Amino acid sequence: SDVIKLNTNECPYPPSPLVTEMIEKMDTERFRLYPDPEASLLVNELAEYYNVKPEQVFVGVGSDDVLGMAFLTCFKINPLDFNKENGGIIFPNPNAPTAIEMPLEQVEEVIKNNPDVVVIVDEAYVDFGGHTALSLIDKYDNLLVVRTFSKSRAMAGMRIGYAFGSKELIDAIKAVKFSYNSYTMNQATIETGVAAIKDDTYFKNIVSKIIETRENAKKELKKLGFSFTDSKTNFIFATHERMPAKEIFEKLKKKNIFVRYFNKPGIDNYLRITVGTDEEMKKLYRALQEILQK
Ligand SMILES: *Cc1c(COP(=O)(O)O)cnc(C)c1O
Repeated sequence: SDVIKLNTNECPYPPSPLVTEMIEKMDTERFRLYPDPEASLLVNELAEYYNVKPEQVFVGVGSDDVLGMAFLTCFKINPLDFNKENGGIIFPNPNAPTAIEMPLEQVEEVIKNNPDVVVIVDEAYVDFGGHTALSLIDKYDNLLVVRTFSKSRAMAGMRIGYAFGSKELIDAIKAVKFSYNSYTMNQATIETGVAAIKDDTYFKNIVSKIIETRENAKKELKKLGFSFTDSKTNFIFATHERMPAKEIFEKLKKKNIFVRYFNKPGIDNYLRITVGTDEEMKKLYRALQEILQK
């Protein structure tokens, strides 16, 4: 319980009280039946909230599952494809782990210039200040926008991911999914997902709180000698002017504060720090101060 966990970009706040309420009043008698494989309750709730048609929505058990399905559907490996320019495009926006947002005009440019392949934009972090490509799904039938409940909706443990795209594209992914539908979303997850979408006030409150903490973290980390990209996510990708990232990572770990370190060329002097609560962040700044003074 005394561990500060800032290494996997989870939300530091609990889910909406409506989710707790839903769990408490859940009709468990229904658990003896198989869940609705289409998760229609949740699909319809998402469609209404995001103002798209239910036929333009796909849901999966976390966005890892959504992405896995999209790969099975759209990215069959054909050796001849390697002779051409590409067989499909996928990128996160805002980006992970750099936290940088690509402007929507540039995203549209990529989609427009690749009409013959599917372009997947992974918007896991878009709620923290990014601009969504959602409005482009009516304009481009090769676009798939993938989202998750794991970060901004504080429900990583429930495993909910979803995607928006043209009806044609969503139908294709559903056909693949339903050809071996062993991993349906369970009933409790479907219903708590709906409850989370319904509590828009709570969602907006925790997101704006995280953004506020993030902007403050930029000031505090700067004072400590860090520089970083202009984060539009719930994490900060930072490098220190003097001490190597690996050393800071290990010293923080000794103090029970976990951040993410990637031992990869190009980013091996950076730390990915999830934005926690104000209290957790204060402990982080204090720990960093001690580490950097020595
Ligand atoms: C966290 C994250 C996800 C979410 O994965 P889930 O399976 O929905 O928990 C997707 N893409 C990126 C880039 C992420 O960082």
